[in-house]
Amino acid sequence: MIFTKKNTKVGDCMDLTGFDNIEDSLPLVERRDFLKFCATITATLALPDTATAEIAQGITNPERLPVIWLSGAECTGCTMALFRTTHPTIEGMIFDLISLDYHAALQNPSGYAAKGHMYDIVEKYAGKFLLVVEGAVPLKDGGIYCRSGGQNFVDTLKKVGSKAAGVIAVGSCAAWGGMPASNMNPTGCVGVKDVLKDTRVIEIPGCPPNPYNLLSTIIHYLTFNKFPAVDHKNRPLFICDRLIHDHCERRPHFDNGRFVREFGDEAHRQGHCLYHIGCKGPVTYGNCPTMQFGDAGAGCWPVAIGHPCFGCNEEGVGFEVPQFEVCDIIHATSPAYHPPVVPNHKKSIGAGEAALMAGVAGAALGAGALFVSSLKSEPIEDNEDEKA
Ligand code: SF4
Repeated sequence: MIFTKKNTKVGDCMDLTGFDNIEDSLPLVERRDFLKFCATITATLALPDTATAEIAQGITNPERLPVIWLSGAECTGCTMALFRTTHPTIEGMIFDLISLDYHAALQNPSGYAAKGHMYDIVEKYAGKFLLVVEGAVPLKDGGIYCRSGGQNFVDTLKKVGSKAAGVIAVGSCAAWGGMPASNMNPTGCVGVKDVLKDTRVIEIPGCPPNPYNLLSTIIHYLTFNKFPAVDHKNRPLFICDRLIHDHCERRPHFDNGRFVREFGDEAHRQGHCLYHIGCKGPVTYGNCPTMQFGDAGAGCWPVAIGHPCFGCNEEGVGFEVPQFEVCDIIHATSPAYHPPVVPNHKKSIGAGEAALMAGVAGAALGAGALFVSSLKSEPIEDNEDEKA
């Protein structure tokens, strides 16, 4: 790690207005990288630029937020995704941003000592720590199908969760049961919210979820002492305000009727739309196309590499609807690159503008309806554009 250069001159690389107070408390990264990180988190959370200074203050608060991470019925994929973050790295996050006081997978070899420390933290910081839960909660037969340290997971969750300031259910399993709860659900798995009914549970679904969505949510809490705004399923709006389909880079192919019919066909090689091989992007909310995965640069998310979205962000879709099944288009939404129909400002609109917008909306709805009906008609040949 590189220690911050305390003698860096203010204004060396950018306008630092508003960052004066954090000069001596910057974490163990280069100043430029740190400010870039704060700006990135601000953009991810869809906050105005002015929030960057507040985020910097929140992150550098010397009183680091205690976080406890519990693991239930799961594959540890959410943890593995978090390990692969590089902005910050996992050790940067643990040592600089938060105080990760207990992580079931990381501290497994420490056994009872680690668990004892966890309960000490729970008592000492009751009402002041965050609980992150990964994995579903098996309830059948008293919850005996997931045990750790001689205790059923459901009991540990109730004990710790009842004293947390807030709970983040990370991954689809923690959100609503995910894979362990699918189909016959032999162990009676449920999501965290079904156990901690009196506690605020924020859900960050995904299999795995993007680790930056989790980090951004934690940093929002660090900065503003509250969770970001959420949708009706308790998912942060900065993650789930639009359909994956709206931001997808294959959307122009969808709009123009260029579809893959089977894996490996010519249309697949050409990068056409995956709708007819079961893509659930049109019914799944998420920021996967814009956030992407694995710090591997542009083009690193399932649809970009040729696999249909399987709807892991959506309860009732991911792990429930078969991958090969074509989804119904419920909302014929326009792609993100179209200009918004309703201007994003508070100015009230006049009658003329309202009439114009109604006309545009009517035309869009008509076009959408026509388009959706065309999806249900005869299959469209591959590579239509090449034939034209
Ligand atoms: Fe992208 Fe899937 Fe929508 Fe096609 S159906 S545009 S692949 S999200």
